[in-house]
Amino acid sequence: MKIAPLFGLIFLAFQVPAEAQTKVAKPRNIILLIGDGMGVSQIYAGYTVSRGVLNLNQFKSIGFISTHSATDYITDSGAGGTALATGKKTYNGAIGVDADTIPVASILELAEDRNMSTGLVSTSAITHATPASFIAHQASRNNYEQIAADFLKTDIDVFIGGGYNHFAKRSDQVNLLNELRSKGYQVVTRSDSVPLITRGKLAALTAPEHHPSILQGRGNMLPEATSTAIRLLSQNRKGFFLMVEGSQIDWGGHANNADYVVSEMLDFDAAIGKALEFAMADGNTLVIVTADHETGGMSLVGGDLSNGSLTAKFTSADHTGVMVPVFAWGPGASSFQGIQDNTDIFEKMSQLLGL
Ligand SMILES: [Zn+2]
Repeated sequence: MKIAPLFGLIFLAFQVPAEAQTKVAKPRNIILLIGDGMGVSQIYAGYTVSRGVLNLNQFKSIGFISTHSATDYITDSGAGGTALATGKKTYNGAIGVDADTIPVASILELAEDRNMSTGLVSTSAITHATPASFIAHQASRNNYEQIAADFLKTDIDVFIGGGYNHFAKRSDQVNLLNELRSKGYQVVTRSDSVPLITRGKLAALTAPEHHPSILQGRGNMLPEATSTAIRLLSQNRKGFFLMVEGSQIDWGGHANNADYVVSEMLDFDAAIGKALEFAMADGNTLVIVTADHETGGMSLVGGDLSNGSLTAKFTSADHTGVMVPVFAWGPGASSFQGIQDNTDIFEKMSQLLGL
């Protein structure tokens, strides 16, 4: 008679964790921020120059992702973006297609299918590899005009970035801006007009190709575009998916220019701050910050946290194979702890959104 209650207790002890696992909080919205080329050195360079003050400091759920592509130890942004966007490993240079060039659905497209609102923001051309991987399906990342045309095949609600020429000055003479307007988009071509948009669909193509770097005067384009995108997308009660790219951390790495890396890193961190600010007030939003790969083999060989000085060295003018961090905040954030593959980010996001 005394054994039964003991068995009951043991049974209960094993039951509780299992039940707790099935009750993982689920977000209504996901904001995925990708720092292109952002490894831990790039982050700590920003941390040092800002004397330890980063919005990233507020994240508690932290992990790492492997970044190799289907064909190479070292990925490019096409294969890296496609892995994050679709959960499929592919060859370097691919955009939203698998290793056999077959189109694969992205998290953005799956969210659209569920009538969620969707958006893309980048400081590069919006047709560049990382944002393109979430919306286009092309065998090559260099098919910029075809990638622009792929935007018209979706119901994306908001996109803000460069790439005006790929929509309006095309080799086929078609002006996609007119087609966007007829689909109900407000078309904006000046960065300072973006924050004035308060509702509806928005196509903001605010640079002919890429925006200038922070060092060359881009200003607050990225954090402001992030705020505008969140304001527009969050009007949908069914939720939203937004991808924001800090595109040029990568270019600072390619240039082996620490000032370029740090200024882009801090600008990206300001955009992270806008996402966190919304998520903290909203309570139903998961914010994920990660990278597609590291660039430059950057290392910090000297510095001073009291005055924000830094000495950096680079071992490569290209991407490297090291793991990159993933930070998560909000409902479901704990799923992103530990070491995982870049394709797992897609799997976890789609599971949490029930897609
Ligand atoms: Zn790169």
